[in-house]
Amino acid sequence: MTTSLKASDRLSWELATESIVVRIRWFGIAMGYVLALTRTGLHNASAVCAFLALGAGYAALDTAFHRMGEVFLIRWPLFVSSMESIFIALLCYHDTGMDSPFRWYYLLSLICCAIRSRPAVAWTTFGLHCLSLVALAWALGQGRSAWSALPLTVALLAWVTWASSALASLLKATGASLEQANSELELHGADLERRVAERSAALRASQARVIHQEKMAAFGLLAAGIAHEVGNPLAALSSLVQMLQRRGPDPYTAEKLGLADRQLGRIQRTIRELVDFARPASPAMGRVRLAEVVEEVLGVAKYYHRTGDRAITTDVPDDLPAVTAPRDHLTQIILNLVFNAIDATVKGGEIQLIVREEPGRVVLTVRDDGRGIAPADRERLFQPYFTTKPRGTGLGLFVSRQIVEELGGSMDYASEPGRGATFRVVMPAEAAGEARPHLLVAEGVVS
Ligand code: ADP
Repeated sequence: MTTSLKASDRLSWELATESIVVRIRWFGIAMGYVLALTRTGLHNASAVCAFLALGAGYAALDTAFHRMGEVFLIRWPLFVSSMESIFIALLCYHDTGMDSPFRWYYLLSLICCAIRSRPAVAWTTFGLHCLSLVALAWALGQGRSAWSALPLTVALLAWVTWASSALASLLKATGASLEQANSELELHGADLERRVAERSAALRASQARVIHQEKMAAFGLLAAGIAHEVGNPLAALSSLVQMLQRRGPDPYTAEKLGLADRQLGRIQRTIRELVDFARPASPAMGRVRLAEVVEEVLGVAKYYHRTGDRAITTDVPDDLPAVTAPRDHLTQIILNLVFNAIDATVKGGEIQLIVREEPGRVVLTVRDDGRGIAPADRERLFQPYFTTKPRGTGLGLFVSRQIVEELGGSMDYASEPGRGATFRVVMPAEAAGEARPHLLVAEGVVS
């Protein structure tokens, strides 16, 4: 248990004790006047009243300082004690001598000193008061039997000094340990708040990911349902066309049947691609070639109804190192960036997908010349549920960045409002020397 008080705690302790001391002083002055005015046989009553007036002046100064939040003569406790020693001795001298009730002022003075100052100061004050008592006895002389009362008074003063110092030390120690417990409590409180905030953020993040996954799963289910519903009549139509073709139609009909067959085949391919893409994302890690993922993304993006009006170009070198990641997740991340770029651009807008190898990493950039990102949105861009789209979820960028960071990569962006945005995905590359299969180059314009 530490008993040391901080400077601010010490001041508040001194102010609190000072408020007690001020009351003790005023009570002493009031009692003094009562004693001086109601008793007879005083050595010099007017001198007693004059000294009491002096004491009242001192108490008034003390009170004024206390009201201002300060302690009068705080740095000179022994000066105060010396003044009090002289003051009390003079009161006793002009009162009835060694048996004057004013000698109890020594006790009050010691109590005040003990609660305000360290035990050493209290014991020095005790010494000063003893000297003052001896001087008083000497001044009074043998005739007034002053010396006989001295030992008992000194013993009483020592007793009070010890008791009040011990009590004050105990109070200070208790105050200090309470203060320490309080600051520890504050620390724990702050720690608890921080942990709650962390947990809430983690909860929000996992909730957002679950919603995103559910959205993707619902999309997959829908695509599978559509494929099933459309697939059967499509297969029936296809066999019907083939049957008609086998019956040797005239050249005009044969040409039209061929056309119908090719269109049916195209629809079947489209459905197969959609179903492939929409199957539940596998979290399995694998060596992923970004060029292949880019190609797959563009194969899906072409079905987005707004894609047709944008020029999407790619620049992906053929000897990039592979990255280790769940392929489906990478596909979703890049597709989300491409969809965002399409949404941000107007008809005729340009979108570029560039992949570059940098030392130890592979950097994918998706650049568009769309409306860019408003400065007010920058802070919130990667926060879950932030969206400016009427039917957006605001989860794409948030979930993408989380996945990329979990894979040891990073995701950032730059934007000039009105002139477009550039999103960057940086992934750790496989170490040099590892097998680098010949990669498919995805380069061209998706229409
Ligand atoms: P959503 O697409 O559902 O809105 P995202 O997290 O993918 O969710 O995107 C959040 C928001 O970031 C978008 O609503 C959009 O305002 C902004 N944003 C993302 N990409 C771009 C971009 N290339 N240009 C301008 N704004 C963008």
